[in-house]
Amino acid sequence: MTETNSSQEIDSTLLKRLQKDIDYDRKHIWHPYSSAFSEQPLQLVKSAQGSYLTLHDGREVIDGMSSWWCAIHGYNHPALNKAATDQLGRMSHVMFGGLTHEPAVELARRLIELTPSNLQHVFYADSGSVSVEVAIKMALQYHQANGSPNKHRLVSLRSGYHGDTFAAMSVCDPITGMHHLFKYSLIEQHFVPSPAETDLTQSIQALEDTLNTHHQEIAAFIFEPIVQGAGGMQFYSPEYLRAARKLCCKYQVLMIADEIATGFGRTGEMFACDHAQLKPDILCLGKALTGGYMTLAATLCSSKIAKTISAGDAKAFMHGPTFMANPLACATAIASIDTLVSYDWKTKIEQIEAWLEKALQPLADHSQVKEIRIKGAIGVVECHAKCDLGILQPTFIENGVWLRPFGKLIYTMPPFIIEEQEVQKIAEAIQAGLDKLI
Ligand code: PMP
Repeated sequence: MTETNSSQEIDSTLLKRLQKDIDYDRKHIWHPYSSAFSEQPLQLVKSAQGSYLTLHDGREVIDGMSSWWCAIHGYNHPALNKAATDQLGRMSHVMFGGLTHEPAVELARRLIELTPSNLQHVFYADSGSVSVEVAIKMALQYHQANGSPNKHRLVSLRSGYHGDTFAAMSVCDPITGMHHLFKYSLIEQHFVPSPAETDLTQSIQALEDTLNTHHQEIAAFIFEPIVQGAGGMQFYSPEYLRAARKLCCKYQVLMIADEIATGFGRTGEMFACDHAQLKPDILCLGKALTGGYMTLAATLCSSKIAKTISAGDAKAFMHGPTFMANPLACATAIASIDTLVSYDWKTKIEQIEAWLEKALQPLADHSQVKEIRIKGAIGVVECHAKCDLGILQPTFIENGVWLRPFGKLIYTMPPFIIEEQEVQKIAEAIQAGLDKLI
């Protein structure tokens, strides 16, 4: 047998095994927002390097999604690998009740340094949704301790998205979110028009009206600053946030900025709040916090909130997840932040923005396209009609690109290490997909 034959044989054995895994997965494993018996295409990823995923059959595709906003430095990054493996040799986990460790302390130092100066206290959580639950509980406990227990509801933007756990779901857009499925179990919240969908003056007025009427029961205003992600991939003006800050102060309503998707440079500023020089009272971080290596989130709050909660009846903030401040995740997050600030990331995001403009704007004339939107390292192609994933995804893969459209939206937020020709390739794949939809 020649060497080529033997490697082909190994390849075909491996391929058969991986195909079996895909078949087993289809029968037994749930995927995000899917039927247990989904017929949607499913790819098995063998490995990932830089901006590329290697699929089970050896094809390489550019990850235009950064694993849902997370992998900002790309995959298999030497500095992040080293941080994780070094920490693994020391200790992968230890409980956080009554114990602490260097990675948790060092990461807190970095987060407090990077985020708006009023945020001085860090609560580590294990996912974005949990960090939103924590933020909401902080707001409620703050008002209870402050003598306003009636302040128990939130106000949220329409077309917002904040996660899939119950309190988080209750502040997601009531129509595109999952309210209809869980309406008897969800807390009722207040909603105001999205400044991305409404005239600025009108949307500020609507917030003022809601706060004016209901402030006695409103504990906090929760919002995704500047970019509304999973609720529609829309952008809005920093002016709205500046006006909201004034209104929230006037009505003693806390501001919870959900930067789980936008944090760590994605929008062109380190945090989207920085576009408006906004100092939120509470800030949620997640996703790119560990460069996409593992799950970790953080909720930061001001000293005033921390002090008030700690002086309240409970004398404590009542939350404490088992894997709080997981050392492996904290060590990797430190390496991710150090990697980000070690180069001129701002200029790189500006470059990506310019490349996305150049590559995607020509698609504005396509018959399937309603609008092109670009902000920082985010490119959005909104179609006139709901996109057929079954047609689009195989076409993207044939063109060497991984994207996951939802609804009418085809969008990309590539790793920050992406190069111009790769952005061009993403646009060509989108064009090929759009052509198939005709
Ligand atoms: N908030 C925002 C803005 C998000 O984009 C997400 C995740 N898509 C979440 C909260 C929830 O985060 P996780 O999926 O880690 O629970």
